[in-house]
Amino acid sequence: TWTAETIAVGSELLLGGRLDTNSLFIADRLAACGVELRYKTTVGDDLSDMVSALKTALRRVRVVILTGGLGPTIDDLTREAVAQATGHRLSRRKAALDAMTARLAEWGRTPTTSQFRQAMIPARAEILSNPVGTAPGFSLVWKGSFLAALPGVPREMEPMVRDGVLPQLQAWMRTQKRISATPMIRRVLHTSGVPESVVDQALAGLVPKGCTIQLGIYASPMEVMVSLTGPAGAEGGATIEQLLKEARTRLGDIVYGEEDETMESVVGRLLNEQKLTLAVAESCTGGLIGHRLTQVPGSSAYVDRVAVTYSNRAKVEMLGVPSGVIERHGAVSADVAAAMARGIRERSGAAVGVSVTGIAGPGGATESKPVGLVYVGLDGGPGEGLTKEFRFHGGDRAVIKQRSSQAALDLLRR
Ligand code: ATP
Ligand code: MG
Repeated sequence: TWTAETIAVGSELLLGGRLDTNSLFIADRLAACGVELRYKTTVGDDLSDMVSALKTALRRVRVVILTGGLGPTIDDLTREAVAQATGHRLSRRKAALDAMTARLAEWGRTPTTSQFRQAMIPARAEILSNPVGTAPGFSLVWKGSFLAALPGVPREMEPMVRDGVLPQLQAWMRTQKRISATPMIRRVLHTSGVPESVVDQALAGLVPKGCTIQLGIYASPMEVMVSLTGPAGAEGGATIEQLLKEARTRLGDIVYGEEDETMESVVGRLLNEQKLTLAVAESCTGGLIGHRLTQVPGSSAYVDRVAVTYSNRAKVEMLGVPSGVIERHGAVSADVAAAMARGIRERSGAAVGVSVTGIAGPGGATESKPVGLVYVGLDGGPGEGLTKEFRFHGGDRAVIKQRSSQAALDLLRR
């Protein structure tokens, strides 16, 4: 089988400031080509550490993908490390220099001396052009292993893997006939509103005994994700589709999306299809729902407005929530959630109003109103006014905000 290793370069990845997410993307793409990721290495911006990581990788796998350390600064050492590990000298490449100069010219800039470093590429390496930024990547075959080096910025790395590295890698793999590759496919369902254990129970016995397809169930604060992974091609692929259909049937309407879909993109699509506009009144989520909704391109077609009404006074003044209702039931109550949703809808003239009020903690709780108590209100749309109570346990402030925003969007979806 084909084996691979990713090497994430950057001291920030070791200091706790940042997570290596590039390897997630790369793992997924390699699997689709039938290459099995065996190791993920992370190394700081240190030349001798990088050289030794590279040597180890080149010894134990056939495909090595490096990300990071290709920038113009003195701590960007990937080019030098590859040169040392493979014994290829670095040379300034005209093609790389020209591409970089052209890109900078588009931005009205000229290369600085330090940026010239980016055009230094190991001899015999092929240049991988960067459609987004200035630093080119490169790839080479060394003693029977394929090695590619890419910038660390995810937005630059992703298209370079897709359009540069993978086509090259697959072409090279075809020349190495002795090793077989089984491309894998992975299908994903997203569920919300139920814990992992419920999903697990619903899917018990889904994959028949002896079948090589793997079922994965992964919980995160906002959702439980289900994945089916197995060999592509006629038999395996067809079975995955069958199992996916069966899983959908068993899970019912807790499934909100597939593959790359997000709750906010699904809600956006539904609003668009029904030509409805939306107004949001947020308390404990502090604008998170509005942020998520407007992350979706084209959301201006259905998002009318988002009001962050944190204080009681704001709820009264901006939404027309009767102050008597707040006094009687408290700001965190079904009645206030209902009045907030109605208020924002009536004042905006949007088709649908949605609201959230809750206790994100750690303070502010009472015996009858614990941290994690959240009310979501919905007004307009198909149903009349509607509110729903949630009790989110065991999360910190950020998690409760996330789960509250998810609950509000989920109510919109249904
Ligand atoms: P640049 O040309 O932008 O300098 P570079 O190749 O030098 O690119 P880095 O400086 O190492 O890349 O990283 C640039 C940015 O990308 C940083 O914000 C860094 O945190 C992020 N980044 C680097 N590696 C990863 C990774 N493995 N996963 C996620 N983000 C990463
Ligand atoms: Mg770096």
